[in-house]
Formats: sequence, structure tokens, C-alpha cells
Amino acid sequence: MRLRRLHNRLKSLASRPMAVAGMLLVFAMLAVMVTTLVLTALDRVASYANHLDEERSRETLVGAIRTFKFQLGATLNDYAAWDDAAENIYAAPDPEWVISNFGDMTFESDLFDVAIVLDQEGRAGMAYSDGKPLKDGGKGFLPHDLMLLFDQVRSTKVGDNPQALGFVRTVKGVGAAGVALIRKKSGEVEADPENRAYLVFIRHVSRDKVERISGAYVLPGLVLAAPSYRSTHSVTIDSPSGISLASLAWTPRAPGDLSREQVEPLVKAALVLVAIYCMLLFIIGNSIVRRLRTDEAAALKLARTDRLSGLANRDGLHVLLDQALEQARDQDSDVVLLYLDLDGFKEVNDSYGHAVGDSLIRAVSAGLDVLVGENTALSRIGGDEFGIVFFGAEAEARAVSVAEAILDFFGEPLTLGERVVSVGCSLGLALSRRGSIDGGELTRQADMAMYASKEGGRGRWTAYHPQMDEERETRNQMALDLRAAIEKDEIEVVYQPVVDSSTFDLVSVEALARWNRAGHGPVSPEIFIPIAETSGLIDRLGLGVLRRSLTQLSAWPGLKLSVNVSPGQFRDPAFSGHVADLFREAGIDPRRVVLEMTETYFIQNPERARSVLERLRKIGLQIALDDFGAGFSSVGYLRQFGFDRMKIDKSLVQSLGQGHKAVEMLQATVALARSLDVPVTAEGVETDQQAVNLRLAGCDQLQGYLFGRPCSPEAIDALLQRPMELRAKAAALAFANHRESLLPG
Ligand code: C2E
Ligand code: CA
Ligand code: CA
Repeated sequence: MRLRRLHNRLKSLASRPMAVAGMLLVFAMLAVMVTTLVLTALDRVASYANHLDEERSRETLVGAIRTFKFQLGATLNDYAAWDDAAENIYAAPDPEWVISNFGDMTFESDLFDVAIVLDQEGRAGMAYSDGKPLKDGGKGFLPHDLMLLFDQVRSTKVGDNPQALGFVRTVKGVGAAGVALIRKKSGEVEADPENRAYLVFIRHVSRDKVERISGAYVLPGLVLAAPSYRSTHSVTIDSPSGISLASLAWTPRAPGDLSREQVEPLVKAALVLVAIYCMLLFIIGNSIVRRLRTDEAAALKLARTDRLSGLANRDGLHVLLDQALEQARDQDSDVVLLYLDLDGFKEVNDSYGHAVGDSLIRAVSAGLDVLVGENTALSRIGGDEFGIVFFGAEAEARAVSVAEAILDFFGEPLTLGERVVSVGCSLGLALSRRGSIDGGELTRQADMAMYASKEGGRGRWTAYHPQMDEERETRNQMALDLRAAIEKDEIEVVYQPVVDSSTFDLVSVEALARWNRAGHGPVSPEIFIPIAETSGLIDRLGLGVLRRSLTQLSAWPGLKLSVNVSPGQFRDPAFSGHVADLFREAGIDPRRVVLEMTETYFIQNPERARSVLERLRKIGLQIALDDFGAGFSSVGYLRQFGFDRMKIDKSLVQSLGQGHKAVEMLQATVALARSLDVPVTAEGVETDQQAVNLRLAGCDQLQGYLFGRPCSPEAIDALLQRPMELRAKAAALAFANHRESLLPG
């Protein structure tokens, strides 16, 4: 569930940089478009402004040229339609007057620089240029175009203005020229048509005149150029016959260009700013996305990592397992899942505290990490549970040998700082051939196999077998039935005699639980006690047995009673309180009762065990170390916890027939217990020989089929009434023993 959510988040994140990049791209495109538009608009405005200016300049220049011509026309009119001129040309011709009023006027004049007087035939009379008479009669100043003007004036009809204007090219250059009939101001001509005279004025477009036009009309850089020069910023000067004489070209000010030059850098700067902004956005956005991505990856990794051990956690294991299974299907290889559950971790945690528990987990993780080897994935999937995935070649064989190595590893006590703790482990192994079993099912199978190891006595590995499912089902059903039986108080108690080793007098009984399962018959306590322990029923079951047997004990005033207590009951903090209540209820002296405990709990949880023992002793109870010789069996515990009695397990008793070594060991053990003032009971005594040897070894009490099987209270009653039966057996045994000792060898 959590993994799926993470996955989705990751997916949404993967699309995030695309979205950011897309947005930035759109933004950049918009910026480019806006800039292009602005620049284009600027360009248009500029060229339009340029164009306008060009038009204006052209019109101005055309006007200026016309004005230049008209000024000459006005001057010519003043001189030609002049009564004095008519007088001195026609009525009383006076060449001196003509020269001084026309010819001399050409000297440094602004109005005209050439003056020629023509007769009706077009022959030049007076001809002056720049105040000097022209030697050739002004030939170089009378080009064809000018003669056309002359013809025009000559043929002017009466009433029209006898004057013509136009531009001509002379030896001196291009100029405005005018031809006018010399006449009175009134227009009257006092001469025959064949004697008429005409005044020609030319006003050359000299450099200084061009400069003056340039200044007056604001046409910078105005120059006179060859007629072939044509451009957008030039105007041609044409002759009356339509021939281009020259071009007047100005330097375009191009105000549009100027303003564009002003604005363009600003726009470009803005564009650069926008580009930098975009780039910054992109870089920042990118780095944010990258950081988010690494954050997310780290978060995902963290979500799949166990903080304490640094290994993968349960989610991480599932991911790794799925990967391994996929690879197995591709490569035709197998996957093995090994489940590991620590035995006794809870006790370490409870008695030494969580700090020690944590360092134990870390130590175990480190140890496992070394053991698992190549092509494996190690994970911590719960408080004290680990999962190891084996993949690749020979996964199964490697898993088995690693399982063995792990068991060896836990065989040694672990040193945690100054403490030495001893924990075991139970392993479950499940195989997925070629990835045929999926992760969920494989996990279930490994878990089941691990539980089988636990039920089988811990400290072992078990491979999953389909039968386990049936067994589990059977056990589940059995647990349900057991719960019902406990609730209905159907757990019976039987009592096994315990006798004095020398007199064989019945001194005590051991209470043992019996369950006659409805529809199935009797179930061995070896089966239902562990089920009660794993399904949380042991507290009620154990106290039920104690209650029943205490009630029963009041009927047997001379006997003592032994009752078995499971480690599970010890873990219940209210246990000693419940026990005290039961004694009060039954009115039994606690000193008559011994509680039997196996050593496992004391090994795993010494501190807690000690405190519970103290509380039980305060009530007045005695505590026996049960099943000595069946397990770890250290006499050290006797001293450490101050047990009131030791019970030698039947497996040790029954090994007595197998040689001297066993006898010696038994003798040494009992001697040691006795030296600590701990009396010893031997259980599982089935033969006379065993009874003799145990008595000789120093056991003060004996228990076993030889003296009586666990039986009903009535059977104990019967035994109490016939004490001689057991005593006779003792006497017979003593006799046989004595005779044996008399025999030679
Ligand atoms: P245990 O505490 O070691 O009890 C002695 C077991 O040895 C009993 O088995 C008894 O029937 C058996 N036994 C006694 N003498 C002989 C003999 O001469 N030969 C052989 N082969 N066996 C002998 P049982 O009654 O089947 O109980 C098995 C175990 O179940 C007990 O072992 C004890 O650990 C557990 N148990 C039984 N009742 C209770 C109970 O009320 N509470 C708890 N916690 N455990 C119980
Ligand atoms: Ca016992
Ligand atoms: Ca036993």
C-alpha cells in the first residue's frame, strides 16, 4: 500500500521536469515572438519614418529647384520688361548702357551670372559671364536647350508672357536659364518684329548655391552629381527637352534609423534580460526538480531501509524479492527465501533494555551480512525477524549452507560491550523454482517453515513442505479446541508419584495436565502444551492445573506437590500475584508446593527470571530446575538462581544403561548439586537398576513408571492406603542389591 503510494508519487515526479521544461519553452517562445514583433514594428516605424523624411526631402528639393528657376524668372522679368531697357535697346540703342546694366551685373551676382542679348535671329550681341565679356559671342552658353527656349519666346503669341525658363547645361555647368523679350514694362515693343531683342540670363547651380540650398532647406550633404546618379535620395534636374542634366543628391538623415538606433539597444537589452531570466528559471527549476528527484529517491530508499540495521526493511525485501523472481524467470534460475527469527530476543530486550536489544540487532545484522555471501539480499523485516533472498546460480545449496552457518553463528554467545548474551534462532526456507512461486506466497511459506522450526524446538532450519499447511490447519483447529476445553474446564490433572529414594515412601506427586480432545481422544501434553504456549493459552491452562491440584492437595495432607510452569507464564507480570491468590483460595501452605521450571527462560532472561523467582519465594514456594540434562544444562544456574531442587531429566536417567561414562557424569552432577545443598530428584526411573544407581549417586527422590505412571487422584488415594506395596518393592530391591554386591566380580 505504502509502496504503491510512493510509486505513484515517483511517477508524478518524473513528469514534473517535463512540465517545467514545457512551461519554460512556451515562455521562451513567447519572449522570442514578442521580441520579434517589437523589432519588426520598430523596423516598420523606422522605414516609414525614413520614407516620410525622404518624401519630404524630395518635395522640398523639387520645390527648391523650382524656386531657383522662378527666382531667375522673376529677375529676368524685372530686367527685360523694363522701360529703360526698351529705350536703350530699341529707341536709342546704347551698347554702354546695355553692358553696364546687363553685362556688368553678372559680376559676383547672386541672381544671374551670365547675360546675353540675342537678336531676332538668335545671334548674340552682348554676352557676359561673371562680369566679363565672352570672346566667342557666348557660344558655349547657348546650348540647344536654351535655343529651344528662345524659339518658344520668339513664337509667343501677342498677349502671352514672352518669357521662357528651363535648366540647361553650359560650358560652365548646369544652370537655370531664362529667355525673355526685351520690352517696355507695359509689354509694348517699339520695334519691328525682325529687330526685336531678347535677354538671356543664366544662373548656374554653383557649389555655393547648392550649399545655400542645403542649409536653407535642411537637406544635409546636398551635392550636384552626374545625371546618371539616381537614388531614393536624389532629384534630377531636367532640361526642357526632357534630358537629365544633373542629379541633386542629399544625404538621407534616415530619422527612423536614428530612432531605431536609439531604441534597438534597449530592446536588445530587454531581450537579453528575458533570455537570462529564462535561463535562470530553467537552471533553478531544473535544480529544484533534480533536488526533488534525489530527495524522492532518498525518501524511497529510506522508506525501504530499516533504520536500526541499515538493511532493507519489509517493503525493501518485497521489492528485492520481486526483482529476484523476475530475474529467475528470465534466467531459468531459482530463488530461495530464508526467514530467520531470533529466539530469546524479547527476553534480552526486557531484561537489559532496548539499548542492548538494539545493539544485539545491529550485531546480528552485521554477522548475517558477513555470512550471506554473493547474490543475496539481506533484510530486517520485523523486530527480531530477518529475511534473506538467494538468487542466481545454486541458490538452494547456498541457502542451506548459509542456514547451517547461521546456526553455528548463534551457537556462540554474543558479546555486546561488557555483556554477553545468548540468543538462538529459528530458520525457515522456501524455494521458488524458476520464479514459479510469487513473492507473497514465498513469504508465507518461509514464515510457515520458520514456525515449524520454532515448534520443532528452535535452533534449527526447516524447509517448507506443503504438508505444513495441513499441519498448520490442524494446529489452528487444535488451538481452537484447546481454548474451548480450557473454557469448559475440561483439562484434567493426573498425578505421578514421587518416592523417597531409600524407603520408597510416597512423598510427593507431580501434577500433569491431560486433555481428552472431543472426537480425537487423548492428546499428549508434548503437543498441546507448546500449542497453548504459542496461542497465548498457557497462562489460563497453567493456573487451571495449579488450582485443581491445590484443591486436590487438601485431600492429601501428608504429600507435597510439584506443578510445571512454562516460560510463557513467567512472562506475565501478574503471574506471582495470581499464584498467591490461588494459595489463599485453597488454603494450602505454599511450602508444600514446588514449581518446576526449565532452564530456557533463565538462560534467555536471567534478570527478569530472578525477580519473578524472588516474588514466588516470598509467597513461600520452592522452585525446582526441571529437565536437567536435556538441554544446555549448566550447574552454574543452580548456584546463580538458588534453586531449591534439581530434577534430572529422564533422557539422562535412561542413558545410564549405556555405560560407565553416563554413570560417572550422573554421579558428578548429583554430587555437585548436593555440595550446593540442592537435593536431586531423578525422573523417568523405569528399572530397578536405575533406581539403585540413582540412589547410590545421591538422588533423594525418584519418579518414574517403576513407582507409578501419572494417574487419577483416586489411584493416588489407593496408593496412600497401601503404603506397604512400595515399601516391599524397596525391600526387595535392597535385598537384590545386597546379593549382587556379594557376588564375585
Ligand atoms: P515433565 O515436566 O518432564 O514431566 C514428566 C514427563 O515424563 C511426563 O510426561 C511423564 O508422564 C513422563 N514420565 C514420568 N515417568 C516416566 C518414565 O518412567 N518413563 C517415561 N518414558 N516417561 C515418564 P507427560 O505427562 O506426557 O508430560 C510431558 C511434559 O508436558 C512435561 O514434562 C511437562 O513439561 C509438560 N506438562 C505436563 N503438564 C503440564 C502442565 O500442567 N503445565 C506445564 N507447563 N507443562 C506441563
Ligand atoms: Ca516436570
Ligand atoms: Ca522432564
